[in-house]
Amino acid sequence: MTSMTGGCQCGRVRYSAEIDDDDAYLCHCRMCQRATGGVSIAYKNVPEEKLTWESAPDWYQSSPIAHRPFCSQCGTPLGFAFLKDNQNVDLTVGSFDDPYRFKPTQHYAVESLHEAWIDTRDLPRMRSDENDNVSKRWMDACGKLPD
Ligand SMILES: [Zn+2]
Ligand SMILES: [Zn+2]
Repeated sequence: MTSMTGGCQCGRVRYSAEIDDDDAYLCHCRMCQRATGGVSIAYKNVPEEKLTWESAPDWYQSSPIAHRPFCSQCGTPLGFAFLKDNQNVDLTVGSFDDPYRFKPTQHYAVESLHEAWIDTRDLPRMRSDENDNVSKRWMDACGKLPD
């Protein structure tokens, strides 16, 4: 078991979670697509009793059965939980401070899966620091590139 931390982009919402394994999954449901703006969303499922909100998130009731933690200041989607009889919370993999250990083990809600976005490994690749236009904007604004 490892204690891992995460939170939103602006830092107002923070959490820590006891993580047992590296298993994560992709949800392709239309509600997650709308809630995150992504073609799918990567989640780590965590028992509720192993999750501590170090600073409380905002909650949006996204359906009659579920609500979603997020930050109303910066808009970061942080997860998913059922309204009643909830035992586990899904945390967005990208909101972890160190998301790299997690591995996808399942596609969920495949009825709305965007097939064309699944296998992208052969697409051309470019690092963000190779983009001179964006790099110059960062250097002009901050004198350095983002993490
Ligand atoms: Zn925030
Ligand atoms: Zn979903």
